[in-house]
Amino acid sequence: MKIYNTLTKKKEEFIPLEEGRVRMYVCGPTVYNYIHIGNARPVIVFDTVRRYLEYKGYEVNFVSNFTDVDDKIIKRAKEEGVSAGEISERFIEECHKDLDGLNVKPATSNPKATEEIDGMIVMISTLIQKGHAYEKNGTVYFKTRSFEGYGKLSKKNIDNLEAGIRITVSDEKEDPVDFVLWKPKKEGEPYWTSPWSDGRPGWHIECSVMSKKYLGEQIDIHAGGEDLVFPHHENEIAQSEACNGKEFARYWMHNAFLNIDNKKMSKSDGNFFTVREISEKYPLPVLRFFMLSSHYRSPINFSRDLMEASRNGLERILTATYNLGHLMEAAVKKELTEEEKNILAEIDGLNEKYDSAMEDDFNTADAIAAIFEIVKLANTRITSDNSKELIQKVSDRIVLLSDILGIQVKKKEELLDEEIEQLIQDRQNARKKKDFAKADEIRILLSDKGILLEDTREGVRWKRA
Ligand code: AMP
Ligand code: ZN
Repeated sequence: MKIYNTLTKKKEEFIPLEEGRVRMYVCGPTVYNYIHIGNARPVIVFDTVRRYLEYKGYEVNFVSNFTDVDDKIIKRAKEEGVSAGEISERFIEECHKDLDGLNVKPATSNPKATEEIDGMIVMISTLIQKGHAYEKNGTVYFKTRSFEGYGKLSKKNIDNLEAGIRITVSDEKEDPVDFVLWKPKKEGEPYWTSPWSDGRPGWHIECSVMSKKYLGEQIDIHAGGEDLVFPHHENEIAQSEACNGKEFARYWMHNAFLNIDNKKMSKSDGNFFTVREISEKYPLPVLRFFMLSSHYRSPINFSRDLMEASRNGLERILTATYNLGHLMEAAVKKELTEEEKNILAEIDGLNEKYDSAMEDDFNTADAIAAIFEIVKLANTRITSDNSKELIQKVSDRIVLLSDILGIQVKKKEELLDEEIEQLIQDRQNARKKKDFAKADEIRILLSDKGILLEDTREGVRWKRA
């Protein structure tokens, strides 16, 4: 299996540190709002990588953090007059609901930065002791030039970096390229006590510490969106390798960005969607399918047309398996004929095509194309005159290959109209009681069953997606 490694800029054969096991860390979201559809890309892509590794028989220890202390969280808490903890807890809970809707497997661990402060203090102390960090008036900085390999991930030359860094008068850094490991609190901010000041950690140190605690000093795969290459991941490497004296991660994977209507997603330009907003228009499995329809290292453009195409594509797979189910019931023949054995051999060939696509740096677009070829074969060549065994095998193969991508194709049990009306009523009652969490939960449940709601002045309208 080959993985494109940002560190070497090459596709490399994947060899884990320990046979049969994979240690994988994915930088998670900062929880000050609902996750947006850009955030959903790494979540879906790396969940798929994990699923494929598991299908190959690896045991995957999958860690993804929540950054739950940060300027944006503090700002929102001030605006709402609540604590920063209340904001982060609320959006962690909401994030889990979205991940569930996107069929993302729960991580082995989901550490939160605020619960790992002790470990951060230990790592910062070690870096100071080893001469890689220093304190000035309560702030601790990493001495970037003390780490020889700095720039190896982003291919930046440390001497060219200086030019891009604005030096402010209040800056106490010894060198403009140094970065913060610990900073003193400002009035009204959450803080923790440390040997240097009452304050909080810098963002980069979080991941170095959590990765070490949950996965060990060396890991196999470290992943995130491409904007994290510099400075976040470059700084993580510097901290971890300076502290542990070992190579930090073997394979660095980065997804390209998602744009909307060919423009960068931006809140101020109004082209910004949360996963929650999209769930009002499309069942979330369609969003997952859309994300996997492109290779993860290619930029992806989100548009209505492409989402409609994804909806149709997904529906094609669902319908084929649904029809195979009916054919199964109608079929009487049991034994496989020679001709049917040939069909199965063709399907094995398409399965190989799927595997080679996935083995080639997780080319999910080509893997989906292979599923479509099996679907086409099912639609054109399988009838109730075929044997039960053949029909079952074709159906199982479509289900398995889709499942590896986290695409559930078993037609969900359809809800009856009365059940939908009842759930809508329950949601209205929850809203009246201001239990918005419950109301949202019901909407996601309905969306998951293919029922979309629209709140209009005349009341709630619903339709089957
Ligand atoms: P953040 O909460 O901004 O730290 O982002 C969480 C994850 O989402 C990181 O891996 C980012 O690289 C990724 N991300 C943010 N915006 C986008 C986008 N538009 N497209 C793809 N990935 C993104
Ligand atoms: Zn990180």
